[in-house]
Amino acid sequence: MSEDCLFCKIINKEIPADIVYEDDKVLAFRDINPQAPIHTLIIPHRHINNLNEANADDQELLGYMVLVAAQIAKDNGVDESGYRLVMNCNEQGGQTVFHIHIHILGGRQLTHLG
Ligand code: 5GP
Ligand code: ZN
Repeated sequence: MSEDCLFCKIINKEIPADIVYEDDKVLAFRDINPQAPIHTLIIPHRHINNLNEANADDQELLGYMVLVAAQIAKDNGVDESGYRLVMNCNEQGGQTVFHIHIHILGGRQLTHLG
């Protein structure tokens, strides 16, 4: 838990979100400003600013987040049509919320990177 972190507040249910999956390690909820028909964020309960702050202790958690993302893609019926996972890091990566997260984007043709 980090004070004044928006996503920690969502985990603590201090701020509402459209939650699609939660367990003891991660939370998944719909992005408030969707860039595709399916746009869900996966976050760990544990506060990590971004990939620069992740270390070997987080290896299992990061792998788990990717597998949850794949399951959510399946649940949304975009596993066959296709989808994209995105992790933004720091300013030039486009990161705006400093609690590590994976974006799942799907449901339309995605084009170029960046
Ligand atoms: P970033 O730009 O850091 O990779 O992604 C942050 C994402 O969080 C953005 O896509 C933004 O739309 C989303 N976001 C920001 N504030 C909120 C919020 O209060 N609720 C939800 N559900 N998503 C948010
Ligand atoms: Zn946080």
